[in-house]
Amino acid sequence: MIQKVLIANRGEIALRIVRACRELGIKTLAVYSEADVQSLHVQLADEAICIGGPKSADSYLRADRIISAAEIADVDAIHPGYGFLSENAKFAEQCESCNIKFIGPKSKSIRMMGDKAIAKDTVRKAGVPTVPGSDGPVESEGEAVKVARKIGYPVIIKAVAGGGGRGMRIAHNDVSFAKEYHVARNEAEKAFGNGAVYVEKYIEKPRHIEFQILADGHGKVLHLGERDCSVQRRHQKLIEESPSPFLTPGLRKAMGKAAVKAASAADYENAGTIEFLVDAKGNFYFIEMNTRIQVEHPVTEECTGIDLIKQQLRIADGLKLDFDQGDIKFDRHAIECRINAEDPARNFTPSPGTIGLYYSPGGNGVRVDSHVYSGYTIPPYYDSMIGKLITYGPNRKAALDRMYRSLSEYLIRGIKTTIPLHKAIMSDPVFIEGKATTAYMEEFMARTPTDLFT
Ligand code: ADP
Repeated sequence: MIQKVLIANRGEIALRIVRACRELGIKTLAVYSEADVQSLHVQLADEAICIGGPKSADSYLRADRIISAAEIADVDAIHPGYGFLSENAKFAEQCESCNIKFIGPKSKSIRMMGDKAIAKDTVRKAGVPTVPGSDGPVESEGEAVKVARKIGYPVIIKAVAGGGGRGMRIAHNDVSFAKEYHVARNEAEKAFGNGAVYVEKYIEKPRHIEFQILADGHGKVLHLGERDCSVQRRHQKLIEESPSPFLTPGLRKAMGKAAVKAASAADYENAGTIEFLVDAKGNFYFIEMNTRIQVEHPVTEECTGIDLIKQQLRIADGLKLDFDQGDIKFDRHAIECRINAEDPARNFTPSPGTIGLYYSPGGNGVRVDSHVYSGYTIPPYYDSMIGKLITYGPNRKAALDRMYRSLSEYLIRGIKTTIPLHKAIMSDPVFIEGKATTAYMEEFMARTPTDLFT
């Protein structure tokens, strides 16, 4: 049985894992960088070890130091959270070889799904629809152009090692393709140390709809419904909700089945997400699998009442999932707004600094996952998300009304945040009517005066 867990992460997700462990009577070890001494997860974990300097490369990405800390503190397992080393197959392998349980899938599954071209190929062979495009990475510009012409413009060039919306370029014709192909390769090389790219059809104004998967080590694979994550800026999610206002019961069923098929094809274990794009006609296409817990997991938790972090710990302990697909109830609507320390009126420039007054909303149907508090200084070294506001209710209108009410109560003084932007979106008829596609944010920003979200 797992008795002590090292949390190889920071911020709100580290705190989320501390909380789940505490409720299960599991001890926690926080590892932190010199810039995170003040963070709540460091203060609330049972033990904490500083593993290096502020830059991620000197701390949260240092597998060697994290494993040393695990050995010194004698932990049974490591929870990687999201980002950092969470989808690093080598790190999962290192944990395995040191006899420390990696709370996540087997390194083999991470490797298979971490290469987007291999992932696509694997699920396509299992009968899951994928976006038309090159079979695997393209070897040269000449080959890439041929593929682009064959599938027809516009196309999207994507890094096989991609993540976080980076290394993706859209081309509308041969001329722009020649330029974007090289930009994508360079970006991918810089960001991921791997310049390999593949080409696929650019789906115009799709919805991003993903399915949460739980799989145990005994062959049971279940889905916990979808999350609609169409509200994105530069391919980065801002708002997520479940159920999707777009899906019909029939489409939901078909996509849920396909998601389970895709996870099974990866011989998957633990929590994961199958991401799809859905076009206006309701055609859906697999784009990738995330082999870790996701930022937006609370949306699913509040819809289904299932604690995903606790399930991850149970699965890592070798336990069977003690419910079946038919037992999962989807009787609530939940929505999440990502609260970022950014100035939406100034092109979302990061706004690190010291928070003066901090007051988070509460009351019925409200959840706040955040590691910050009054007087906390946001370090400039990491991503700008400082919290997640989740609201839920019996239906979409109730959840959205509650979100607007909660955003109005949320006070974060001293820095700029995305709270006013979220309020403006919650009042926008296109969003309220459930019509947002991945093109929504760009259209919204173009037609909305900036004083509405400052
Ligand atoms: P990442 O791993 O970097 O997050 P994804 O493959 O998950 O990249 O894609 C992120 C987002 O990029 C999608 O949600 C969607 O908005 C856009 N996108 C990706 N592939 C396509 C495509 N073929 N057509 C249109 N948009 C796409």
